[in-house]
Amino acid sequence: MEGRKCLGNRGITADMNVVTVEGLDRIYGSGRTRVEALMEVSFCLAPGELSVLVGASGSGKTTLLNMIAGFDHPTGGTVRVLDQEIGVMGETALALFRRQHLGFVFQALNLIPTLSATENVELPLTLLGIPRSARRVRVCELLECAGLRDRAAAMPGELSGGEQQRIAALRAVAARPKLLLMDEPTSCLDSSNTADLVGLLLDLNQGEKICMLLTTHDQRVTRAVPRSIRLVDGRIADGQD
Ligand code: ADP
Ligand code: MG
Repeated sequence: MEGRKCLGNRGITADMNVVTVEGLDRIYGSGRTRVEALMEVSFCLAPGELSVLVGASGSGKTTLLNMIAGFDHPTGGTVRVLDQEIGVMGETALALFRRQHLGFVFQALNLIPTLSATENVELPLTLLGIPRSARRVRVCELLECAGLRDRAAAMPGELSGGEQQRIAALRAVAARPKLLLMDEPTSCLDSSNTADLVGLLLDLNQGEKICMLLTTHDQRVTRAVPRSIRLVDGRIADGQD
């Protein structure tokens, strides 16, 4: 896809995109087991843009997130994040790049069960070598923003599903990434916890200008988010904007 078409009327230039996906294909298997999980997928995400990736189960949403984060490699096409082509980066460079610029929350939240809520949120900052005092200021600010100050010392097993999801989101944004990817963040949440999580994500998007891409089936999420990108059988549906 050409830059102009990709960028629509947002009045931004190509080098400002946080994500640029061009002609992306991901084909699994071959012969009778061949699955075209993604075909000719192209779109861009601007700095601070909040979007949902919607589509039926099996339409390729998780595959696309994995490709943007560099956990899986394209069969064809390219993914650029902050102008770095993800598919050609070595594992070490990619790991550092993710740590500095990307936050992601998978469906399995992967909170570390032996660390408290505070320590889980703090972990990315520890890995980046941020001093303890600065880490604690940042963690307090985030827990406050999520209404979780009183759960700071709780272990993941003592948190409700909604609290765990919010702690996972806070951990993903602790290091102020440019991009947050979340896979089906509300799939296990009731209405009240969904509203809390969506409120938190909107606050973080506005306050910290983090570009976010969330996969969802959930109309309570899509209604709250300005842009929907729709996948149908691995292809971008027309009229996505
Ligand atoms: P969604 O997240 O929208 O439910 P997925 O990205 O998980 O969809 O899957 C898209 C398609 O790719 C599905 O048909 C799925 O079965 C297939 N697929 C996903 N991962 C693999 C894999 N590792 N090997 C083979 N097929 C896969
Ligand atoms: Mg999925």
